[in-house]
Amino acid sequence: MLEDWGHSKMKHSRRDFLKVSAGVAGLHLMAQGIGSAAVFAAGDETDEIVPFPLSAVRLARGIFAEQAEINARYLDSLTADRLLHSFRLTAGMSSSATPYRGWEDPTCELRGHFNGGHFLSGCALASATSGNDVLKSKGDVVVGGLAQCQQKNGNGYLSAFPTALFEHLVQGKPVWAPFYTYHKIMAGLLDMYVLTGNTDALKVAEGMAHWVDGYFEGISDEQRQRMLRTEYGGMNEVLVNLAAVTKKQEYLDTASLFEQPSILDPLAARRDELTGLHANTNVPKMIGAARTYEVTGDRRHRAIAEYFLEEVLTARSYAIGNTSLDEHWTTAADDLKGSLGYTNAECCVAYNLMKLERHVFGWSGNARWMDAYERALFNCRLGTQNAQGLKQYFFPLATGYWRAYNSAEDSFWCCTGTGAEEFAKFTDTIYFRRGGDVYVNQFIASTLDWKDEGLKIGQSTDFPREQGTTLKVISAKPQLRTIHVRIPRWTTGAEIKVNGRTLEAVADPGSYVAIRQMWKDGDTISVSLPMELRLEPLAGDETVAAALYGPLVLAAEMGTGPADGPSRVIPDGSTVPKGLAKPDLLPKGAAEAAGEAKQWIQAESGGELQFKAASEGAQLNLMPMYQVRDQKYSVYWQMRSEKKQA
Ligand SMILES: [Zn+2]
Repeated sequence: MLEDWGHSKMKHSRRDFLKVSAGVAGLHLMAQGIGSAAVFAAGDETDEIVPFPLSAVRLARGIFAEQAEINARYLDSLTADRLLHSFRLTAGMSSSATPYRGWEDPTCELRGHFNGGHFLSGCALASATSGNDVLKSKGDVVVGGLAQCQQKNGNGYLSAFPTALFEHLVQGKPVWAPFYTYHKIMAGLLDMYVLTGNTDALKVAEGMAHWVDGYFEGISDEQRQRMLRTEYGGMNEVLVNLAAVTKKQEYLDTASLFEQPSILDPLAARRDELTGLHANTNVPKMIGAARTYEVTGDRRHRAIAEYFLEEVLTARSYAIGNTSLDEHWTTAADDLKGSLGYTNAECCVAYNLMKLERHVFGWSGNARWMDAYERALFNCRLGTQNAQGLKQYFFPLATGYWRAYNSAEDSFWCCTGTGAEEFAKFTDTIYFRRGGDVYVNQFIASTLDWKDEGLKIGQSTDFPREQGTTLKVISAKPQLRTIHVRIPRWTTGAEIKVNGRTLEAVADPGSYVAIRQMWKDGDTISVSLPMELRLEPLAGDETVAAALYGPLVLAAEMGTGPADGPSRVIPDGSTVPKGLAKPDLLPKGAAEAAGEAKQWIQAESGGELQFKAASEGAQLNLMPMYQVRDQKYSVYWQMRSEKKQA
C-alpha cells in the first residue's frame, strides 16, 4: 500500500512548505501573483507556464463577449437580500426577503452553495474580466451580509443551513453534501478577495477554515475517511489556496484532512478504479491534488492529477470533451458502448475538467491539454447558456433530445453555479506566459495588456467561423521575445505569416510554434488553421461515431424541440424534464465505420459552418453543436459495421 501522508500533519514540515516551486500555473490565484510562487519562494523561478491575470486580458467583440454579457446580466438580476435570506435565518437574524427556490430553497440541504458561493465567484470573475464594478459592488454587499452572519454565529461557522447537517455527517446519518456547499462559500469569498481585493472576504474565509479544524477534532482517521465518502467538493483545493494566499501552514494541515487514500492511491499507482464513482464528486479532488503539488512541490499529487486527467479524457470521454452518464462512470474504461442517454456529461464536470486541464498544461506546456480545453469550450460550454443567461445541467448525447435550462429563480443547480463562473472567465486561458515568453492558447477575439513589459497583443478572429487568427503586436519600443502559438492537433496544412512573410517551418499539429524575434509595433502574425471533416468513434464501439470539423462536433438536426415550456426551462430543482420519452435511434451514416466523413458529409458553406449528410436516402442538416438552440439533435451516428453477415 502506498504511503498515506494525508493522515499525518507532521509530514508537511514548515521547511518543505516554504520550498515550493515558483511560477506554478493554475487558477487566477497564480495569475494575480499571490499564489504559491510569489508567496513562498520569491526568486525560485521555474519553467512552469502561468496564466496572465484576468485584469490583463479583455474580450473583444465576438461570441464570447456576447455570452459573458448575458451571464453578467443574469447575475445582476439577483438581489442581495434574497441571496442572504437563509444565511440570516440560520444565524438567528431576521429576513423578510422572498427566498430563491430549487437548490436554494430554505429546506434544501445544499442551500447557500450558489447564493453565498458561486454567486460571489461569478461576480468576482466577471468584474476582474470586464473591469466593470457593478457586480463587484453587489458581491461586496453579499460579503458584508455574510460577515454579519458569521459574527452572529460566533464560532467561524458560516452556512445557510445549521450545523446539524454536519452532525449528521459525524453520526453517519443521511445528508446531501455539507462540505460541498461549505467549499463553494469559501471559494466565493476567496475569489472576492483575490480578484477584487475585498479583505473582509478573506477574514470570513479564514474563520470558516478554523471552524473546519475544530470540527474534526476528536474524530478518528477511520471515521473521517468514512465521512469523506460524502461529496465534499474542492475542500482540499480551497484550503490549499487559502494557505497560498495567507502563507499560513495551518491551512495546509486542514487541507490534508480531506486527503482520501481510497481514491488517490489507485490513481497514484496508475490504476483506473473509477467505474461506479460519481464524476463531479471526484474531479474537484484532483484539482485539489494539482494545487497541493503546486504549493508543496509533492510530485505524487502531480502524478495523480496527470494520470486521472489522461485516463478520463482518453478512456471515458465523449467527442464533446466531457464524461459520465447519470453523473457516474457507469461503464468500464475504454468502453462507452450503450452509455448514450439524456443524462450525459453534467456541465459541472466539464467546468472542473477544464480547470484541471489548465493546471496540468502549466506543468509541461503540452498542447494536448489546450486542445482538450478547446474541445470542451466550443462543444460543451459555449451553447449551454440561453439568451436569458439560464444554464444547462445535463448534455444529452442520445438522439432526439434537446437543450433544457434551469429556471431563473427556482432551480439553482450546481451547474447554474459553475456555469455562472465559466461564462465569467473566458479570458483566463487565452494567454499564458513563461518568463518573457507569451503563449497563445485559444483563438478568441481579445487583447492582452502586459503592462510590466509594455507589450500588448491584439487578437482578431471570428474563429471558428474563420479558420485561423491574426495577432498584432503593440509596443512603444522593439522587444526581443518568443511568442508561442498553438497549432491544434485537428489541423492539417497550418500556415503562419509574420508581417506577410510565410514561415518556412510550422510546428506539427498538436504542439506550439515558437516565433522568436525582435517584435516591433504593428508586427502581425497571421495564423491559418485549415479544418477538415473527420469521424471519431465512441470508445468501445467502432460502429458509433461523431462527425467533427476541426475542433467542432457537428450535430444533426432532428426536428424542432419543445417550446419554452417546462421541458425547455425546468421550473424547479429537478434536473431532467418530466415525462421524457425514450431516445430515437441514431441516424445512419452512409458509410462503413472506417469510412471517411467526406464520403457522405458535404460542406454547404464552410464559412457558415453548415453541412449536409446523406443518411439512408435522406439528407440531414449538420451544424456545430454550439450553434444548436431550439432543435432536437444527434451527436452520434450509427455506421455500417464492416463485419457484415454473409
Ligand atoms: Zn452540476
